[in-house]
Amino acid sequence: MEDIKKNLETVRGKIREAAEVCGRNEEEVLLVAVSKTRDPEEINTAINAGVTDIGENKVQEIMDKYDAIKPVKWHMIGHLQTNKVKYIIDKVDMIHSVDSMKLAKEIDKRAKAHDKVMDVLVQINPADEESKFGVSIDEAGDLVREILDSCENISIKGLMSVAPIVEDPRDVKPYFDGVKAKYDELSKISHPRLDFRYLSMGMSHDFPVAIEAGSNLVRVGSAIFGERDYAKYRREQEAKKNGNA
Ligand SMILES: *Cc1c(COP(=O)(O)O)cnc(C)c1O
Repeated sequence: MEDIKKNLETVRGKIREAAEVCGRNEEEVLLVAVSKTRDPEEINTAINAGVTDIGENKVQEIMDKYDAIKPVKWHMIGHLQTNKVKYIIDKVDMIHSVDSMKLAKEIDKRAKAHDKVMDVLVQINPADEESKFGVSIDEAGDLVREILDSCENISIKGLMSVAPIVEDPRDVKPYFDGVKAKYDELSKISHPRLDFRYLSMGMSHDFPVAIEAGSNLVRVGSAIFGERDYAKYRREQEAKKNGNA
């Protein structure tokens, strides 16, 4: 198994450094450990080492692991299909990937049925990449206002974005800067269900740059758990389904 504890220390060190570079405090940056494809044992190891928040990008993985994981905050960070909201509405603490009114309305409806207010982030696709989900920077304000107008059981906590994959992470700084500027602009809206406090930007390869741009929530997977092996993960899932686990 990867040395999760040691990796966590390295990641925390880099968070501290990046925060210091821009005169911020490391405690202002929330580390969400992204545990997709990882098994409960690995995730619990990370929790024992101090991880308080985990992120998953698939509804099925949340459901499969939920009961085997120690108490922790759950973040849904991946694209969410409307018909699957009902499975996670009572499990996750925040949904990072709201990018349409259709999805917001479904979250609102399911949250209401559970008598809860769901915390969400609006996902921005900062480079307008076709391969990525999220609204453009220009559309973000309209979506935020529309959600505030019509979804009583949603509280908007901020913005999330995934930057393009590039060789030198410094090259994506302008995209992060653009999302930060939009974040600052929208945080001025005064509304009881708008409570901007999270700017979710930065993954294993680019989180220091994201922090320098103003991110206060980083989603880090492989730098903590090691490289993901999707083929192995699929084989294990297949074996479980066939009862050979
Ligand atoms: C997988 C994933 C991450 C973490 O990626 P790493 O490169 O492993 O750190 C962050 N955000 C989202 C939305 C992801 O799907």
